[in-house]
Amino acid sequence: MNWKDKNVLITGIGGFAGSYLAKKLINKEANVYGLIRRRADGTIAKNIIDRGIAGEVNLIEGDLTDVTSLADALDQSEPDYIFHLAAQSFVERSFHNSQETQNINCMGTANLLETVRVKDSDSKIVFAGSSEEYGLVLSSQEQYEKAKKDYGTVFPEPENIPEVPISETNPLRPMSPYAVSKVYGDYLMRNYYHSYGVNAVVSRAFNHEGAGRGIMFVTSVVTNQIMKLKFGEIDRIVIGNLNALRDWSHVQDIVNGYLLLAEKGQGGEVYNQGSMRTNSVLSYILLGLEEAGWNVNGIEAVNGGKEIQDPTEFDESPIFGIKFPKTKVDQLILEGELEYTIKDKGIRVNTQQGDVMIEFNPDRFRPAEVPILLADTNKIQKLGAKIEFSLNNILKDQLNYFLKKENRSN
Ligand code: GDP
Repeated sequence: MNWKDKNVLITGIGGFAGSYLAKKLINKEANVYGLIRRRADGTIAKNIIDRGIAGEVNLIEGDLTDVTSLADALDQSEPDYIFHLAAQSFVERSFHNSQETQNINCMGTANLLETVRVKDSDSKIVFAGSSEEYGLVLSSQEQYEKAKKDYGTVFPEPENIPEVPISETNPLRPMSPYAVSKVYGDYLMRNYYHSYGVNAVVSRAFNHEGAGRGIMFVTSVVTNQIMKLKFGEIDRIVIGNLNALRDWSHVQDIVNGYLLLAEKGQGGEVYNQGSMRTNSVLSYILLGLEEAGWNVNGIEAVNGGKEIQDPTEFDESPIFGIKFPKTKVDQLILEGELEYTIKDKGIRVNTQQGDVMIEFNPDRFRPAEVPILLADTNKIQKLGAKIEFSLNNILKDQLNYFLKKENRSN
């Protein structure tokens, strides 16, 4: 599709994915408008500056919770396409700031849809739903039994176990206020399509990362600390649950998917976006250390035991009927053979350059956790979606970002 001179409105343009999307659309010569919250100090969001697009986007001051500003944004931009990415997007924050999350993510989305409906706009909307909507995904019978014990009930009950890779028809079992808010937005988008003909397509993107990813997300938490370790600013890596498995894509691949959905996505439909890989937080740390110059020989629990030699060795065996790049520790965690818990205190990583300590911080463990995410992306692949970036490409981009001292957090 030719994006030249198309009017595009991006909510969340100052965010991580939003800024990459804006950059791509500018390169395609679209007229890019972005809804941006007023900043008391008058500065422009770092993401917009880092993408080098400050002079090329039309920033409209406004807020999803303020309908008048949304009406203004539609009047000013007359959008052919709206990418609705603005949200309070951090799962952990949603546990502490639940109402803020609902106000922005639920009411904000309802406000946007109402504005589009009342103004009779025929713009096509691409909504950023989330893999977190799937929440509790059952990857084994044992995990199902454990979930029943932990939560009393599993709702909806699974039809088949394992439920991975996760397709769009998988049950939604959101596990956080954030996840619930995205289910709301997802359903409301489709309801407005069916009820009022609003041309809305839902993307359920799995985790996407890269340079500039919010500092509180785990891939940034890890790579930021690895670079700090490299420069002697810290002496250990502090982390929460590192058994969690995530389907991590590069933000560029997901942004390409958003464009594809705008071009070819069917209104009222939901499309997963992801890499069809799943890797553990532990692997992210170990592969990150290797990428940054440590040669990992083995790991063991600080309190002893759970010793694994060559933990980053590539594991070739298929799992859940598919093959994807993963490490020995990923495979062990996936098979339920390995789990590090708070009782282990942490992990000692034995490397050729000396030991690296990973310390568990109990505060970083979540009240409710999503153990595994792995996307089935066959539906969007049929539209032409492709994944171009490997896990190591993502790691490299993030490590390079934190090479710059000013990007490293305190
Ligand atoms: P999410 O999948 O949207 O929740 O993305 P995050 O990047 O915030 O978290 C991914 C996984 O990493 C979750 O299972 C977290 O429990 C786990 N995790 C472990 N340690 C940390 C940490 O220090 N910070 C964050 N954000 N997540 C952590």
